Amino acid sequence: MSRILFWLALVFLVIFAVRAKIREAQKRHQQQFRQPPPAAPAQPSGYRPRSAANDAEVMLQCAHCGVFYPASETVRANGRDYCSAAHAALPSA
Ligand SMILES: [Zn+2]
Repeated sequence: MSRILFWLALVFLVIFAVRAKIREAQKRHQQQFRQPPPAAPAQPSGYRPRSAANDAEVMLQCAHCGVFYPASETVRANGRDYCSAAHAALPSA
């Protein structure tokens, strides 16, 4: 009989320990998400956060193949814009 009591007590102790661990982990998890985000560092006046709209680049259309490409990659030849040097070298139709 005392053996059964010993094993019962052991089982309850293990269950209690596991539940305490789980509760502790949940508390830690909740604290992580409750903490407010760190304050943003002071920005110089006139600073605007970059957005996708600010980063948008002008697109040009190739005079040869009609593909749109960023204006910074343009190859100018004969007063026309091309997507690549290869298309600029081709005789225009
Ligand atoms: Zn092209």
